[in-house]
Amino acid sequence: MDALFQDRTFIVTGSTRGIGWAVARYLLERGAVVGIHGRTDEGVARACAAQAPYHGQCRPLTADFSRPESAAELVRTFVAQVGRLDGLVNNAGGGKAVAFRGLTPNQWRTTFALNLESAAWAAREAYSLMRSQGAGAIVNIASLAAHGPGKWMGADYAAAKAGLVSLTQSLAFEAARFNIRVNAVSPGFVETDLTAVLTPEMRVGLGIPLGRLARPEEIAGPVGFLLSDQSAYVTGEVLHVDGGLWMKG
Ligand code: NAD
Repeated sequence: MDALFQDRTFIVTGSTRGIGWAVARYLLERGAVVGIHGRTDEGVARACAAQAPYHGQCRPLTADFSRPESAAELVRTFVAQVGRLDGLVNNAGGGKAVAFRGLTPNQWRTTFALNLESAAWAAREAYSLMRSQGAGAIVNIASLAAHGPGKWMGADYAAAKAGLVSLTQSLAFEAARFNIRVNAVSPGFVETDLTAVLTPEMRVGLGIPLGRLARPEEIAGPVGFLLSDQSAYVTGEVLHVDGGLWMKG
């Protein structure tokens, strides 16, 4: 494996499984030190162990994003341990397929806390650290749902992810003069716990032009590109990684 990220340090939120785990793996394989984050100490310890033979490059981070300010604390904790932060991936997220008419204020707030507010506070902390370093990259994991109606997830999830895209662009604009790049990746459907409920018939019914769901590693590669110097002139961009669904409309 190449040493693209040798001596670089990254935080990937929600990296105990799914897309976050695959992104962490991609960075670890290329020499990075990675903050592995989840909700419980046990879950994080299991995820770090599962990153063998790279577990020595993992730094465990625990925070429950139902309290979004804990995302800023997490960034400070990591930097106190390793000394700098080259990149942040705001990946933790999720939601339920709830009809809008049944949505409660509490569900709305929970979805926003996890998918948007925690990302905002982590990004604000990272931005301030990266300014003093003179460089950095932030990648926000949005969703196809951000770019149109929330057809498969609730309106709360779609609205929070649309907010994340908007945050990406505003922060990219403000931070560019400090050599900090901010981009988003919008996955379509990926084989993770979030999509485990889809039956074979439902998968066919999605009409994905490439004919299948993505593997988590197929999201990790584009995220790695946006974190690397290979994308040194890319900022404020939203990369659709969805097998052609966005094109199809
Ligand atoms: P997943 O459910 O497999 O993993 C979610 C991760 O977020 C886990 O590590 C979990 O510990 C963490 N997390 C969840 N709630 C948390 C909380 N309250 N506090 C702290 N951490 C919490 O999900 P995934 O499919 O890998 O999704 C990763 C990201 O990609 C999410 O932001 C999701 O919205 C987005 N996404 C996924 C798909 C898909 O098809 N799987 C499609 C589009 C976007």
